[in-house]
Amino acid sequence: PEEPYPLRMEGKVIRGFGRGSRDLGFPTANLPVDDKTPWLANIKSGVYFGWASLRLPPSHPNQPTPTSSGSTATAASGFSVYPMVMSIGCNNFYNNTVPSVEVHLLHDFEADFYGAEMRVLITGFIREMRGYARVEDLIEDIKMDCDVARRSLDRKAWTLQETGNWLLRET
Ligand code: ADP
Ligand code: MG
Repeated sequence: PEEPYPLRMEGKVIRGFGRGSRDLGFPTANLPVDDKTPWLANIKSGVYFGWASLRLPPSHPNQPTPTSSGSTATAASGFSVYPMVMSIGCNNFYNNTVPSVEVHLLHDFEADFYGAEMRVLITGFIREMRGYARVEDLIEDIKMDCDVARRSLDRKAWTLQETGNWLLRET
């Protein structure tokens, strides 16, 4: 049976295999996969969307200042929420049994945030994975995924209101 949305997972951002997501213009923050996320074992590979929250270290250049008006809200816990698009995919490296989880935040960051705590709230599925003969076609599809995510999250603003608590709560 399919798990109901939203699906949740959390962890500290780790290094991936540097497969060039940044070169494509779409860096992905990778999360470790462990047995705290049982639904991952059954979920189908593909592109998903939702919200992610991030707690940046105090010294990070992108640390949102609580006083700045109109910026992303940062809770007392130190977490800020961003829209995201992500891939969950089987990883040949581990016998196809361990999926990799990679999150592209729809926000421009001035610096990396490896090690930051991240929470991910998946609200829907966009499409299955596929192969590409030309990298231009892949980039075009990723751009479309970002549009789909943005527009779906606009329409489903209620989802964040109902579940934002979890994204922003104290640990
Ligand atoms: P890796 O293979 O180590 O995951 P990537 O090329 O996918 O390398 O880059 C991911 C890193 O880029 C993230 O861990 C994060 O520190 C940084 N980063 C900067 N901007 C973003 C963004 N908008 N979304 C995701 N990660 C970002
Ligand atoms: Mg990555």
